[in-house]
Amino acid sequence: MNQVPAISLNNGTLMPQLGFGVWQVPDAEAEHAVGTALEAGYRSIDTAAVYDNERGTGKALASAGVPREELFVTTKLWNGPKQKWGRDEVLRAFDDSLGKLGLDRVDLYLIHWPRPMREDFLTIWKTFEEIAESGRATAVGVSNFRPEDLDRLAAESSLVPAVNQVELHPLFPQTELRALHASRGITTEAWSPLGQGKELLTLPAVTAIAERHGRSAAQVVLRWHLQHGNVVIPKSVTPSRIRENLDVFGFELDSADMAALDSLGASAAGRRIGPDPAEFDA
Ligand code: NAD
Repeated sequence: MNQVPAISLNNGTLMPQLGFGVWQVPDAEAEHAVGTALEAGYRSIDTAAVYDNERGTGKALASAGVPREELFVTTKLWNGPKQKWGRDEVLRAFDDSLGKLGLDRVDLYLIHWPRPMREDFLTIWKTFEEIAESGRATAVGVSNFRPEDLDRLAAESSLVPAVNQVELHPLFPQTELRALHASRGITTEAWSPLGQGKELLTLPAVTAIAERHGRSAAQVVLRWHLQHGNVVIPKSVTPSRIRENLDVFGFELDSADMAALDSLGASAAGRRIGPDPAEFDA
């Protein structure tokens, strides 16, 4: 049973609001982890060229027996610093990802990081427009883009990113960026939605709400995201947690719960776990 609501992206594509992320899952384990997720009922999978597990992911997609039209597959261009990213390089990288995934189309293709110091994401985006027009990516978007990066895209292109996938969790709630996305028709997708399973899940504010609902801290944090309208892609390789993270549609946080979780971000402004997109160029 798949009760995951669908979010309508700005080109009409439907995206499951909850999916399965596979960062740091080795290629050899990806087939099993993704297979477990598909069996549990996930239909959206978030991978990336740099995760080096597109092959294992593709094997699971091929063997799960789920019709292609029920799946939502995201991958990302690793626009790394080792080379210039012109049209040919982008198309080659996209073909390479499709080949490893064993697909002739992805549902969502993202620019992984803006790398503003390189000044080439506009060229990349022009090629993404071409990929979108060809239908080989049903939707295209960005990841880790700041407001100024979104402004630069908007100045040069009429194609609005369908999604901006950014670090987002109660300790780093990205309130202003979320509002900007909403005003421009960009869907907010939260990476590290569980704060990578670290401090966030042990905070008394979170565990108290979890106890009251008879749910886990992870489930409470995922509900906070869903009730704010974020797309989430929690990662786990543990089958019981993979199932637990999907089992979040049978309860609801009330306004006091939401306010308590919102206040964590207000008191912890700027607490990123991952890199700052203004500087990241590894
Ligand atoms: P996450 O917030 O999903 O946390 C995952 C970790 O939390 C697991 O490794 C595990 O230790 C723990 N965990 C998972 N389920 C749990 C549960 N039910 N109870 C207790 N602990 C649990 O972190 P993430 O993997 O960094 O982010 C999710 C996905 O986001 C990634 O897999 C990837 O697909 C994507 N991502 C994208 C970017 C980007 O730059 N676009 C960066 C990081 C992650």
